[in-house]
Amino acid sequence: MQSAINFGAGPSMIPQEVLKEAQTHLLDFHGHGLSIMEASHRSSMYEEVHNRAIEDIKTLLHVPEDYDVLFLQGGASLQFAMVPLNLSQGGVIEFVDTGTWSSKAIKEAKIMGLNTRVVASSKESGYTHIPENIAFSDEADYAYITSNNTIYGTQYKTFPDATAPLVVDASSDIFSYPIDWNKTSLLFAGAQKNAGPSGVTIVIIKRNLLERVNETVPTMLRYQTHAEANSLYNTPPTFGIYLLGLTMKWIKAQGGVEAVRQYNEEKAALLYNAIDASEGFYVGHALPGSRSLMNVSFNIKDKDKTLEAALLDLAQKEQMVGLKGHRSVGGLRASIYNAMRKEGVQALVDLMHSFAKTHR
Ligand SMILES: *Cc1c(COP(=O)(O)O)cnc(C)c1O
Repeated sequence: MQSAINFGAGPSMIPQEVLKEAQTHLLDFHGHGLSIMEASHRSSMYEEVHNRAIEDIKTLLHVPEDYDVLFLQGGASLQFAMVPLNLSQGGVIEFVDTGTWSSKAIKEAKIMGLNTRVVASSKESGYTHIPENIAFSDEADYAYITSNNTIYGTQYKTFPDATAPLVVDASSDIFSYPIDWNKTSLLFAGAQKNAGPSGVTIVIIKRNLLERVNETVPTMLRYQTHAEANSLYNTPPTFGIYLLGLTMKWIKAQGGVEAVRQYNEEKAALLYNAIDASEGFYVGHALPGSRSLMNVSFNIKDKDKTLEAALLDLAQKEQMVGLKGHRSVGGLRASIYNAMRKEGVQALVDLMHSFAKTHR
């Protein structure tokens, strides 16, 4: 049994059941006499794991027939470059800037000399909310959003409408709600927050976008290459994909993404209620209408560094780890992804409550 409650933003908590199952089969994979880690990616033993993971993603997210699910490497960060490399047609790319991760995506498109336009931004307010009335133009090559802002703790309640293909960075909230595929043409996520360990990036792309790619794009950087080869063009991160697959199986056992979302709403409510009931002792970073169900970023009154350190210290003693806020926002951040149990959140809420009582 693990003793720590892991509130880390990523890599983050993986369900105990997943880790245990991996442990059970680590040396001898279901009677094959070797570890899945040691198996060729061309073996039927591995291919079964690989294809099962893809199928389970399709089932869980109700991925339509005309989309491909890809397993890539290079993290979500490589997608900041790979998306424009594959989808840009020399026109304008439109972004909503909701913080660090969208800014980084904009930066990559700019490095390539592409024409970028920020149609909405919450930068002026310190990224405390998702902008309202987002209006993408009809002429864009594609539109781009970050569904959950891991650092600031803001999240879209629904994806905005776009006539151009909508690209979504869902690295920190994939598998926590159903995806509206009528609105979404490409969705990507690094696995290490809500889908497994680091080292795998999931890309779900509408097949008609694969043909857009320019002849000058290198083989490994084309979605087409990986789609045609079922993500087996070269050696994929096999062990990571195996663990991701076990995580998919776990989500199915929880009742799927709809059930997970409901549970997550209850978990997040515990924490936001504690912040709201603290009479200003705790101050949430995100405005109420934009609050993330995944990352709860908050400060202690007057952004008091001594109190912050004292609370982190106390949490550490109770084996609650990963609560330090991102350096760009400061304060604390509790990441409560799918794998976090309600008991873990309740333990943090209890700690916050007693801490506020003694330090008010
Ligand atoms: C963590 C994160 C990234 C970066 O992921 P890497 O896999 O480390 O490149 C990108 N976007 C969002 C929203 C994230 O939370």
